[in-house]
Amino acid sequence: METHSTSGSAPLTATTMDYQLTLDKVLANAEIVHGAQQIVTRRPDGGTFRYTFRDMAERARRLAASLIDAGIKPGDRVASLMWNNSAHLEAYYGVPIAGGILHTVNVRFHPEEIAYVLGDAQSRFLIVDDVLLPLWRDVPGGCAPERVIVHNFSGAGHTGEDYESFLADEPCPDLPELTSERAGATLCYTGGTTGRPKGVVYSHRALVLHALCEMSSAAFGYGVTDCVLPAVPMFHVNAWGIPYSTLMSGAKLVLPGQNLDGQSLLDLARDEGVTFLAGVPTIWSQFLDGLEARPDHGLSPDLRILTGGAAPHRSLIEGLARHGIPMFQGWGMTETSGVVTVSRLKPEIAKDAAVRVSTLGKQGLPLPIAQVRLAPIETQDEGGQCIGSIEVRGTSVTGAYLNNLKPEKWTEDGWFRTGDIGSIDAHGYLSVLEREEDLIKSGGEWIAPRDLEDAILEFPWITGCAVVGRKDIKWGERPVAFVVLSDKPPDDWSTICERLAALFPKY
Ligand code: AMP
Repeated sequence: METHSTSGSAPLTATTMDYQLTLDKVLANAEIVHGAQQIVTRRPDGGTFRYTFRDMAERARRLAASLIDAGIKPGDRVASLMWNNSAHLEAYYGVPIAGGILHTVNVRFHPEEIAYVLGDAQSRFLIVDDVLLPLWRDVPGGCAPERVIVHNFSGAGHTGEDYESFLADEPCPDLPELTSERAGATLCYTGGTTGRPKGVVYSHRALVLHALCEMSSAAFGYGVTDCVLPAVPMFHVNAWGIPYSTLMSGAKLVLPGQNLDGQSLLDLARDEGVTFLAGVPTIWSQFLDGLEARPDHGLSPDLRILTGGAAPHRSLIEGLARHGIPMFQGWGMTETSGVVTVSRLKPEIAKDAAVRVSTLGKQGLPLPIAQVRLAPIETQDEGGQCIGSIEVRGTSVTGAYLNNLKPEKWTEDGWFRTGDIGSIDAHGYLSVLEREEDLIKSGGEWIAPRDLEDAILEFPWITGCAVVGRKDIKWGERPVAFVVLSDKPPDDWSTICERLAALFPKY
């Protein structure tokens, strides 16, 4: 406990209970308070499976009992190779409450990378969806977990050790209460562009505090009357914490299985009355295409969409708004347990339509218990703002990588160097401009390819664009744009050059 002494008085001890923020308590509370709330999973055959928070909690405790019976020790890793489904959710709770660490493996990793992360994490057990067995069979041997348990997601049957038979008949009657909120609960590897993936171990405390912030009105703002569908895969950063924050808030949870394309999500969101969707911009572009084809979509009038993982194009935010669907965004990374900033609108900004859209295009305001700062790389006159390398710290930001890789990612005073470049406006909204390694330095000036790409994509006859730096004897680097033309390209290209010159005079 903390003690304080002021001159002349006896030290004062805080009298608050030392209540540990652990996932067993989150599960117990969800069961007691919201036990009848539904969890829906879309099966591979398009059908749905539904049960309640109470059912899920009981099965998670049965999983914990089986793992303890199978010899799991505190801190042991249990890997999952699974889509967004109820069994994966059971593992989200069951593994940590058994004292283990759930290692969610990215099914989009190359088989060699899967072998690497399983070996690096030394995962003792693996739970795999039957539909992912072909991928699992391609994973080179040598890292084999002691036991591979197969979840019969498709219902087609398999010859491996079955998840249902592995589950104990009864929940463990005397499951010990978890005593350390600082113990690891889950593990995820970054899908970094350079080098091997790096492991991030999330503590119970990090997950609980992140989920609390996330469900607050400062971030996602959902509650018991909501129906939440995470279209972000459950192998990405704990599905941005949604499996924890929904159970805390009592919101209905809809898990789309492996059907993460825009059209399937549109159908599922309509059928289940979804009010909150979360996923990457690519999915929402497909979703918007589906809406354009079927304007009488029948979606809930309360639906809003959270986008994250990459910057959304302005046309996406505007397009969804035309269908009455507000979109906002979150920015974060594997190292930060999910979002650090969310583009919630302050009242003074919400008033003006143009400012509203441009602010929603920014990455947003920090969560209440996270801090963001810029390490200036260049003082640039971008509307009077300084551009810098984004550094963060907070209760859910990792303080190291597994095996202490890349210690130089942390500053001497304990902030994490995200590798993103951005600016912060006068209202405190963060804009992420680029990854540090993507910036182009031309004639001593920094150029953000994303700015040029966005401006080029405003031309209706361009449907795709990539800007990269080419080496240049005079300038050091110059930006080059590769574009995909629509079927009606213009006769005269000069307009594009004039427009870009007007927008970016210093380039
Ligand atoms: P990951 O660790 O795979 O989640 O990737 C994190 C990276 O994705 C961040 O460092 C950013 O470069 C990018 N990112 C995430 N969210 C956003 C966003 N809203 N806008 C722009 N970039 C984003």
